[in-house]
Amino acid sequence: MIIYVYDQGEYITFAESLKRQPQGKRSIYVNLTNRCTCNCTFCLRSLKHMDESMTLWLKQEPTVAEVQQELAALPWQYIQEVVFCGFGEPTCRLDDMKVLLAYIKQNHAGVTTRINTNGLSDLAYGRDTAPDFGKGLVDTISISMNASNKERYLELTRSQFGLPSYDTMLDFAQRCKQYVPQVVLTVVDHVEDSEEIKKCRAICQKRGLQLRVRVYEDK
Ligand code: SF4
Repeated sequence: MIIYVYDQGEYITFAESLKRQPQGKRSIYVNLTNRCTCNCTFCLRSLKHMDESMTLWLKQEPTVAEVQQELAALPWQYIQEVVFCGFGEPTCRLDDMKVLLAYIKQNHAGVTTRINTNGLSDLAYGRDTAPDFGKGLVDTISISMNASNKERYLELTRSQFGLPSYDTMLDFAQRCKQYVPQVVLTVVDHVEDSEEIKKCRAICQKRGLQLRVRVYEDK
């Protein structure tokens, strides 16, 4: 699935979502890639079992034109938010994602946009990527913080960039505040205990960042 809706622990098509909930607005998710610069121990890519027809594993990455075609066919009166997420790291296709974000903002001004990212695009591209999310393209950037220190972070994420990943991710989050209205860091409750989450909260407070504790789901 390139575009899907998340409904109570299930990833479903937009048509199925409309069947279940014929009224009201919802978030849609855009699944651009299965690639990632991390290999998290808790990643749903390896843990989640899915019906073949509904899977978020892409046999082939969709082109920008293919995604635009799917977006154009949607009934936008039922959509409040577009999230770039999926079973991979969306910034692996940073330029394509920017084209799609611009397309959404140009054609659907009232719809908000969010990116769920591992926050390591600076390391992937070897430059400051925070400005890429500015110019009104992104309303919320949600960055996986995962841990309170670089050793634990690396143990969990197995980032290909090694120990510098953690501090680079935090610095990226701080710089994003100049460009994106909402910057949110996340930790997963099932993965880290309350002491660890308390430490994450303290780090975020010191850096003026907002922390959200996400509920782990492994279905
Ligand atoms: S950053 Fe996200 S997509 Fe990448 S391995 Fe970790 S959980 Fe999976």
